[in-house]
Amino acid sequence: MSFSQLNEEVVKVGLCHYCGTCAGVCPEKGIVMDHETEEPQLVKECPPGCNLCHTVCPGKDVPMLDFDRMLFGCERAVDELLLGIGRDFVKCHAVAPDIREKGGGGGVVSALLTYALENNIIDGALVVTMSRERPWVAVPAIATNRDEVLAAAQAKETLVPVNALLEEASVRAAEAERQAAGHERAQTLSRNV
Ligand code: SF4
Ligand code: SF4
Repeated sequence: MSFSQLNEEVVKVGLCHYCGTCAGVCPEKGIVMDHETEEPQLVKECPPGCNLCHTVCPGKDVPMLDFDRMLFGCERAVDELLLGIGRDFVKCHAVAPDIREKGGGGGVVSALLTYALENNIIDGALVVTMSRERPWVAVPAIATNRDEVLAAAQAKETLVPVNALLEEASVRAAEAERQAAGHERAQTLSRNV
């Protein structure tokens, strides 16, 4: 077990699609995503018994039928085999002019993320932006406000290991929760004095 199983069953046989999930969940921070090879690289020793990177890797298997049953409570009909189950198909675009102008395909994703951030539905979103140091390379980022969402607007037609930021996203979400709880406690105290 350990990283070697992931390496043998996924990476070496060409099934890795550079999603970064293995790096994002590794409790040892032992995996880095190599931009040149577009593959994960082990940079630390694995503790005995850990096999998390292999367990979560979608390169070896994506249980789409299980997802269908979980999300829709049914299985795909014959005419849904390729596209999947669709409840409805809609055509839309962002209403805010700046989002519509900056976004690709009408800016729908940017508008939804901005709405979710500004209404405290989410603390942050994993997005893809261009590297400052190497502006021709697309890199993952965590957007926490409208400007950061708009900086990441437009689709990037390339592989990007977005899920490598899962650990950082969960740490930042926990920190945001702690700050919100502290703010709430302070408000309660000030109301009671
Ligand atoms: S997730 Fe576990 S097995 Fe995989 S690289 Fe990290 S420590 Fe090793
Ligand atoms: S989790 Fe993603 S990046 Fe890691 S080996 Fe699997 S497909 Fe590749």
